[in-house]
Amino acid sequence: MLTVQGIPAFDDNYIWSIRTNGGTDVVLVDPGDAEPVIATLHAQGLTPRAILVTHHHGDHTGGIDELVAHYGLPVYGPAREHIPHRSHPLGEGDTVPLPELGTTLRVMDVPGHTRGHIAFHRAGDALGPPMLFCGDTLFTGGCGRLFEGTPAQMQGALQRIRALPDDTLVYCAHEYTEANLGFARIAEPHNTAIIERLAAVRTARRQGLPTVPAPLGLEKATNPFLRWDAPELIKNAEAFADRPLTTPVEIFAAVRHWKDTLDQPI
Ligand code: ZN
Ligand code: FE
Repeated sequence: MLTVQGIPAFDDNYIWSIRTNGGTDVVLVDPGDAEPVIATLHAQGLTPRAILVTHHHGDHTGGIDELVAHYGLPVYGPAREHIPHRSHPLGEGDTVPLPELGTTLRVMDVPGHTRGHIAFHRAGDALGPPMLFCGDTLFTGGCGRLFEGTPAQMQGALQRIRALPDDTLVYCAHEYTEANLGFARIAEPHNTAIIERLAAVRTARRQGLPTVPAPLGLEKATNPFLRWDAPELIKNAEAFADRPLTTPVEIFAAVRHWKDTLDQPI
């Protein structure tokens, strides 16, 4: 079985560390800061074998320099972005063999948050459920801001993510679920799955527990950025935009714009 540990960094980032049950070889995803990674590896007697990077932002790449200097690791990252020490440029359909973990990841192009953003997908098998390491594209309960890409790109990326199986575990890079679901409840107030999830997430956060990963099926039921065909969400997005919205891209763009106006950082 594969184990994925979230190493907290900065205020709300997770640096994912993937290993086999009982194994000591790990693969790191989006190491924005080297210090907590090195501390965790030391404390647990683990050896890093590779770094995977979803996009170029500093909170995902800031630790690469020091980790490469320390351990001499290969760095897998998006071909279309500048990633320090990148040894393996990746794009749609590429595979990342991880022999130390006995598994292979598949790369998806998911532009929108940044122009070249990629995600790493693992199909489910005897080693564990399907997993998606999606950086700042899909968040639990939300999605990344459109810093470089267009609504059409982001909605296209999310549509392809939404087509993955419900039991896919979503490993996004930030603990934003509670704030995201606060907006989800405003966008779709009669969706009882959102109300129930928000209550559960608040309880978990009060206890200091992470709310990431979450199964994609729960995202499909509660995340407004995957629900462009939900009638109540469409109605409320049209009220916000003050015009009829017909296509999934138009609906997604209005919901994203709506959330952007609400003075939240995400
Ligand atoms: Zn980012
Ligand atoms: Fe980030």
